[in-house]
Amino acid sequence: MKEHFKIEDGHLLIGGVDTVKLAEKYGTPLYVTDEKRIRERARKFKRAFPSAELLYAAKANWNISILRIMAEEGFGADVFSDGELYAALLAGIQKEKILFNGNSKSPRELKMALEADVKISIDSEDELITLAEMADKEIEVSFRVNPNISVKTHPKIATGLRESKFGIPAEEATSIYEKAIRLDNIRPIGIHCHIGSQILDISPYRETIERMMDLVAKLTEIGIDIKFVDVGGGLGISYSGEKERRPSDLASLILPIFERRCEEIGIKPILVLEPGRYLVADSTILLTRVNAVKKAYKNFVAVDAGFNIFIRPAMYEAYHEIAIANKMNEEAEETYTVVGPICETGDILGRDRKLPKVKRGDLLAIFDTGAYGFSMSSQYNGRPRPAEILVNDGSDEVIRYGEEYSDLIVKMNLPARLM
Ligand SMILES: *Cc1c(COP(=O)(O)O)cnc(C)c1O
Repeated sequence: MKEHFKIEDGHLLIGGVDTVKLAEKYGTPLYVTDEKRIRERARKFKRAFPSAELLYAAKANWNISILRIMAEEGFGADVFSDGELYAALLAGIQKEKILFNGNSKSPRELKMALEADVKISIDSEDELITLAEMADKEIEVSFRVNPNISVKTHPKIATGLRESKFGIPAEEATSIYEKAIRLDNIRPIGIHCHIGSQILDISPYRETIERMMDLVAKLTEIGIDIKFVDVGGGLGISYSGEKERRPSDLASLILPIFERRCEEIGIKPILVLEPGRYLVADSTILLTRVNAVKKAYKNFVAVDAGFNIFIRPAMYEAYHEIAIANKMNEEAEETYTVVGPICETGDILGRDRKLPKVKRGDLLAIFDTGAYGFSMSSQYNGRPRPAEILVNDGSDEVIRYGEEYSDLIVKMNLPARLM
């Protein structure tokens, strides 16, 4: 178990707070995040890349308190939608440190990005044209290129392959920059890529930075002044005891190449990284109550959290460690499959897990749910979304209230003729 967890009287503690008490106080399901852990991970990244610009990938977890913590730690933000931009600005992330990404930005989103005066990473020629038509002053942009890099991760989160929907193919990169400089209100100053997520074998970053710098060399030759090189995010975490690579490992891989190539080309751009998962994933647990234990085809443990609030196992076949938060000192003795309450066979949170004897009313903790957890939640099956709690050195505060039934229907409308 990682340092922000402890066991006392058989109970799991996070950030010095008893999870059993949290579940009693706030109800379940419940997301609980340890603030200190996020700050530690953020600082590790900062120390590894002291002169890089670090943009937190907001989509991993864009609760406004989390964004605020990132702002306090000196992070900017990589936002992928108008809503994420709205939240990042509200959290006090400086506009100079916001990059608006996205493979299908709407005119409304582009207008918002222009008004907010944040940098935009352009994903297609059509987007370049839309933007040039809209901008009423010179704007600084980068282009997202697809470096055609294969990484060992789940296919749904590999984003840098030739067949992926993201970015401009590397072969076409120079020609789109050439088109951009011919437009008088567009000034390309950056180049951007993102090869995928949950990357534990970091070796593909070597080829990524090499290919990016090949492009930077070509762009410099045609007179483009590249001020930043953004290699995206993707550093993975250990979900099931895999060896985790540290930001410093990533730095030792990337920085020497980046610095050597910059010197060869004779330029001094800033390196940009966009970590998401690495910063927030292991800060958070999802607490969920056991409604029933049922011996059927398998030993099923039916809990009150389903894939509507935590979709990673169903969507990516992701493995997340599960423990009985009120029986931390008991020996594992039976094999259980933990399932949620959603009316779908695929609503499985953990398959064939060895756990101490599970009883109705027990409290389960699902670990490493801070990234792509709440941020991917929905109200499917008419389930109000749960609260989020921030713990810090023994204190606990609400950072999002649990939804009420009224939140399920607040935007619905009953036309008068149906009344
Ligand atoms: C999702 C995403 C990230 C963050 O990825 P992580 O695996 O969470 O680090 C960074 N940049 C872009 C463009 C993304 O889409």
